[in-house]
Amino acid sequence: MNLPISFEFFPPKTPEGADKLRATRQALYAHQPEFCSVTFGAGGSTQEGTFGTVGEILKEGVAAACHFSCVGATKATVREQLATLQAMGVKRLVALRGDLPSGYGAGGEFHYASDLVSFIREFTGDAFHIEVAAYPEIHPQAKSADADLQAFAAKVKAGANSAITQYFFNSDAYFRFVDDALQLGVDVPVVPGIMPITSSTQLMRFSDACGAEIPRWIRLRLQGFGDDTASIKSFGLDVITDLCDQLRTAGVPGIHFYTMNQAAATTEIMRRLQQV
Ligand code: FAD
Repeated sequence: MNLPISFEFFPPKTPEGADKLRATRQALYAHQPEFCSVTFGAGGSTQEGTFGTVGEILKEGVAAACHFSCVGATKATVREQLATLQAMGVKRLVALRGDLPSGYGAGGEFHYASDLVSFIREFTGDAFHIEVAAYPEIHPQAKSADADLQAFAAKVKAGANSAITQYFFNSDAYFRFVDDALQLGVDVPVVPGIMPITSSTQLMRFSDACGAEIPRWIRLRLQGFGDDTASIKSFGLDVITDLCDQLRTAGVPGIHFYTMNQAAATTEIMRRLQQV
């Protein structure tokens, strides 16, 4: 596809998961991603797996972005982790606040992702390309839509180079977000994050947690399929290919796929987009 593409993975928990992810990556590398990113459990819970997977991607000759969350972290640990990533040859970070699992106290020396972005710039200068998260449908904890947009602008002002959005199915929310950001003078690339639909229950669960809206017609169609996974997947491919095509036609700066460590759906969406 004639558009920068990136793929997101999560660190596998088992040796079997790691093998499966290696195979997924090899399948997806055929699409020549601009970079592949690896998520980071808030509170540093997946640090070893995240850094390990990032290291593997770099060894495979592909640019890697390490997600990096600051909630609960101290400046000393963040400094140490940044030094490790620099020594590994990592050049791109996705800088996040993150969400601590319930039961953890807030603590830490960073309150918001903008604090982390400022700290990374202060400590490492221009060593990293910094991505931040954007929420076209508004972050669930935001005081208001306007406050959330201001928070996004603050992250860019602190030194972020570009952004990846939370996934969405309503492209109008994305276009309005980008327009509103531009009105504030924020003109960094905002790359839409795309979640392939492969499972109804998983999608409902994720969307409730992250505040992504599933339009009524999609929700009802998915509910109507019940346990018929073949129909869910087929419908999901149609919906997401149409969404990507619409975004591409509108001139988005790239597409970031939340692969969920699976190659099949993303590969099929890419194949269809090459044919449209
Ligand atoms: P922030 O930008 O700090 O915003 C968090 C909330 O605080 C928002 O409601 C915002 O409006 C508000 N806010 C910000 N600044 C201020 C201020 N100065 N005053 C008042 N309110 C303010 N989570 C993980 O744990 N690991 C990952 O790897 C991961 N990867 C992600 C990748 C992408 C592309 C996206 C979109 C999300 C990812 N997340 C990840 C989820 C993310 O950590 C959560 O959405 C988290 O709740 C917010 O993180 P943030 O960086 O957007 O926070």
